[in-house]
Amino acid sequence: MNREFAADFLNITVESQSLFRKHMQATVEVLIRDFAALEKPYSGAAPQDVAAPFRDRQVCPEQGVNMKELLDFIGTTVAKHAAVVNHPACVAHLHCPPLQASLMAETLLATLNQSMDSWDQSMSATMLEEEIISWLCELFGYHKCTSDGVFTSGGTQSNFMGLLLARDHYAYTKWNWNVQQWGLPPQGDRLRILCSEAAHFTVKQSAALLGLGQHAVITVPVDSLGRMQCHVLEHAIDRLLQDGLLPFALVGTAGTTDFGSIDPLPELAELARKHELWFHIDGAYGGALALSAKHANLLEGIDLADSITVDFHKLFYQPISCGAFLLRDSVNYRYLRLNADYLNPQEDDEAGVPNLVGKSIQTTRRFDALKLYMSLQHLGRVKFAAMIDYTLELARHTADQIRGMKALELLAEPTLNAVVFRYVPSKEMDATRTDALNHRIRDGLLENGIAVIARTKVKERACMKFTLLNPLTTTQDTGDILAHIVRIGMELEQQFGIEQYALRGVQS
Ligand SMILES: *Cc1c(COP(=O)(O)O)cnc(C)c1O
Repeated sequence: MNREFAADFLNITVESQSLFRKHMQATVEVLIRDFAALEKPYSGAAPQDVAAPFRDRQVCPEQGVNMKELLDFIGTTVAKHAAVVNHPACVAHLHCPPLQASLMAETLLATLNQSMDSWDQSMSATMLEEEIISWLCELFGYHKCTSDGVFTSGGTQSNFMGLLLARDHYAYTKWNWNVQQWGLPPQGDRLRILCSEAAHFTVKQSAALLGLGQHAVITVPVDSLGRMQCHVLEHAIDRLLQDGLLPFALVGTAGTTDFGSIDPLPELAELARKHELWFHIDGAYGGALALSAKHANLLEGIDLADSITVDFHKLFYQPISCGAFLLRDSVNYRYLRLNADYLNPQEDDEAGVPNLVGKSIQTTRRFDALKLYMSLQHLGRVKFAAMIDYTLELARHTADQIRGMKALELLAEPTLNAVVFRYVPSKEMDATRTDALNHRIRDGLLENGIAVIARTKVKERACMKFTLLNPLTTTQDTGDILAHIVRIGMELEQQFGIEQYALRGVQS
């Protein structure tokens, strides 16, 4: 062992181990002091103030800095001006507080640093990921023996994989065309994907990346609950076929980003079967309902999907990043398969040595499966489900609070735990100004460290949004934020001339 660098890594030497203990402990203290103990969901600091200390310091000094000093620096510059995801008033995005069990796992997996691409870089990790994937497949109603899947960086990657396999499967079965080898088929510009207008933007992004262009995505209108309208879908498919176009995939969403809406999955599955479309379900957000005895019925039909996206860094309370792609028929993985002599030679396949690289579009890949595993083990399903159920309940109560306030308008009854609403001015005001006022209210909450909430547009009009993933948030918290929203809204209406806040709202 080269002693010169021994203490910079964790290893068999006593110095290394005692430093590891000391620095881990110090890291924990900084996290508690400069993050866990924060009283506001954001410090309120302006971008230039957050950037200043980093500008004043060399990124790569000639000689290293003492760890204690470095941790203090990171604590006071990064942790103290972070979005405090654990705070009950940090309710903007599908961005969750991570479970303690997952943080322990994150430390373990970073330290073990296994790479999931080949068996010889991740022996035990490969076997554990395979076990968890098989459990997930069963959770969503797939047959254990014929399904497969892989952990991914999240919904973006999982949706991409679903549509990639859909495209290649269609080309292969229709025209015996091998996209992997020959690129897009001559009919490529006629391929079409269907999804609802509320589907995640990554469907269009995937179409672009797959060489089909965003015009390949046909969006179907949603009903008042944000769900794809099946009769319109059916017409859309007929129209495409009449026009000589080639619909090959249907994406259903289980939990849209804004309203948490769930498409009518069994009906979509039936239409997909009838028209031989690959049925992909984007359950990045709503997939977690599968754990809940109370709400799993909302996912009825998910087992009929050819492939499923599920994210764990949302409603499964895992640190970023952690998601999965599940495939009903593992045979379809053939469209992705490549053998590299140095990673997964054909001899390994023949000898039954599992190299997961063939199931992923990533090569080097984190052992994120451990986080989900340790969380499931430590909490157990019942407690996990109780947390998820609680947040759905919280969203219902928050919707009631909004309905009870004259200055606020609820945009839709929440399906999951996202609540969309807007401030309604007390005096007559045109749409542009009302939108600007809504933006200013949100900025006011952030600048004063009162709450971190999201904005969105519904029918082109500015709205505010709570995404209530955090099971520590109470109706007291949501009530307080709503009261602040009304107060700020009224102050803005009175304090400033309308022109002034309209302008500031537009700038921000
Ligand atoms: C978050 C989300 C995505 C994107 O997933 P990432 O994990 O951010 O890559 C896709 N679809 C839906 C419905 C989502 O909520």
